[in-house]
Amino acid sequence: MASSLQPGLYIVATPIGNLGDLSPRAASILREADIIAVEDSRVTAKLLQHIGVKRPMQPYHDHNADRVRPGLIERMANEAVALVSDAGTPLISDPGYKLVRDARAAGRHIVTIPGPSAVIAALTLAGLPTDRFFFAGFLPPKAKAKADQIAEFKTLRATLVFYESGPRLADTLAILAQVLGDREAGVAREITKAYEECLTGTLLELAARYEGAPPKGEIVIVVGPPGEPEAASGDDIELALVEALKTSSPAKAAGEVARTLGADRKALYARALELLGK
Ligand code: SAM
Repeated sequence: MASSLQPGLYIVATPIGNLGDLSPRAASILREADIIAVEDSRVTAKLLQHIGVKRPMQPYHDHNADRVRPGLIERMANEAVALVSDAGTPLISDPGYKLVRDARAAGRHIVTIPGPSAVIAALTLAGLPTDRFFFAGFLPPKAKAKADQIAEFKTLRATLVFYESGPRLADTLAILAQVLGDREAGVAREITKAYEECLTGTLLELAARYEGAPPKGEIVIVVGPPGEPEAASGDDIELALVEALKTSSPAKAAGEVARTLGADRKALYARALELLGK
């Protein structure tokens, strides 16, 4: 039976643990798709069994993606190709972005069926600010590379989200504390599953909690944003103004320094004129 779906690519989010989270729309697309690109056909077969359908599957993972991608793009011209990952939203720390990129380049019809993703689910559990967040995915496994990457996020005024595994959790929490300072954090584990939990505390408290007791299951670390920056000293402000005056007019220099160091613009302008002997 020909699919009732318009030919193209359908990016389908699937549950991260609780099969009840498969949306009716996601189920209907999977039922109708001509072919489903999957990370692991055994995992997706279970999901299809849950909704009582059998569909052809094409493995699409890091090791064969470059080889099978052109064929999938070709098929999207006349068939509905669904993309799923083992769990959650495809493309989020999972394969798929190049498939979407090439489907776009080929002018294919592209539709997303949004749904669960561990990053968003963990943010809802941790009770940390969510107005600005930065998803950093998996950190490198080696300590030095891990610390270097964390250092890149140090000045971000945002909540940080990382995917992690149980055996590495305590070390990663300790390195996060070392590099970022002992911020408020949350460890969300087994979200939507029977043993879902989210422990909160400072990074060092959580590191101590998991030291020597690596938890089982899937894990997301959520780290709160840094505290307010320390106010710049009078000397810092004077120095910044003198520097700015080398290349800018008094008004512009005062504006720049006021903006970056949070000082009073009018007072800075008066001081700039004084410095220039005007
Ligand atoms: N695409 C997925 C998504 O949208 O969340 C993520 C795939 S990534 C390969 C798998 C990682 O996501 C796990 O190692 C874990 O860090 C996190 N994860 C997935 N399911 C989870 C769950 N139920 N509870 C906690 N973390 C989960």
